Amino acid sequence: MNDTILQAGIVSGEAYKTLLRECKMGGYALPAVNVVGTNSINAVMEAAAKNKSDIIIQLSNGGSQFFAGAGMADSFEAKVLGAVSAAKHVDLLAKYYGICVIMHTDHANRELIPWVEAMIEYSEEYFAQTGRPLFSSHMLDLSAEDIDFNLSQSARLLKRMAPMGMSLEIELGVTGGEEDGVGSDDNIGADNPALYTQPEDCLRAYEELSPIGHFTLAASFGNVHGVYKPGNVKLRPEILKSSQELVEQTQNTVKNPLDLVFHGGSGSEKDKIKKAIEYGVFKMNIDTDTQFAFAQAVGEYVQEHKVAFEHQIDPNDGTPYKKLYDPRKWLRKGELSMVARLDEACKDLGSVGKSLALKKTTDIAA
Ligand SMILES: [Zn+2]
Repeated sequence: MNDTILQAGIVSGEAYKTLLRECKMGGYALPAVNVVGTNSINAVMEAAAKNKSDIIIQLSNGGSQFFAGAGMADSFEAKVLGAVSAAKHVDLLAKYYGICVIMHTDHANRELIPWVEAMIEYSEEYFAQTGRPLFSSHMLDLSAEDIDFNLSQSARLLKRMAPMGMSLEIELGVTGGEEDGVGSDDNIGADNPALYTQPEDCLRAYEELSPIGHFTLAASFGNVHGVYKPGNVKLRPEILKSSQELVEQTQNTVKNPLDLVFHGGSGSEKDKIKKAIEYGVFKMNIDTDTQFAFAQAVGEYVQEHKVAFEHQIDPNDGTPYKKLYDPRKWLRKGELSMVARLDEACKDLGSVGKSLALKKTTDIAA
């Protein structure tokens, strides 16, 4: 049991920092799950509640667009409104699940800076009304640009976000593989130096950003998006340790001063995950494995009830199949399978039973 207690719901400001501090001091990390609709969001909240684990919910720009509806005419608007709609859904419901949620958006490269800025505007509006931002944090991934541009843009956005208690995730070094059209599959070789972040760059980010506000760092240590053949990927979490030590020594900080993020967590070896947490990782992204879990269960259901997906009524004996093709039936299979995959993630990351949240029912009775 943990003595620190936070209000259930989306965290920001001091509550966000408390959550991170408890993760790092307690030697565990939170799953950060990519979602694309209410089915995946609800499955994530269900898994968090079931495991008594706090959780990170995130949307890519493509996921946000899908959330608003792939048929929306203006795709930029859809990317903004989809993310805002998802955050409002979580803001309304998370307290009833009794969990703390870090509400976050994923990779935004140079072209997507306006996307992040538009979402910040929504938080500013919400902050003016409620004293809280709509999102806990956003990611700005300018790792493909030079570090001057990366850090200057990160500083510019963080200046706007910090007064609302929002945090910025940045990336130094390249996460291999492809995600949502960002990155590529040809750079996943274990000997590609771009896949390993330089400690000097981490120090520079710390020096330039920490005076402005809170930031987190996706450092590359050989991790890739997606799941590839074994042997193609070589994780070296000791890279993270070198970065932490360099900042510790030059800035005279506490142990593990950097709040690190592990991208491309799907399919990683369990011992490498443990090491990464030991070196200050508080967030591990998971997308590919939860996508597959959802799809696999739906696929099984469709195979099992093939006839109900081809005929409303059995062509031979007239049996009605409404109960079988009702989307709630097969979407629920997907949700439950996603929950089961997240049980495993919470276990791997050591977050089971560690939630700091106080349920709404006991907390805000008035
Ligand atoms: Zn990523």
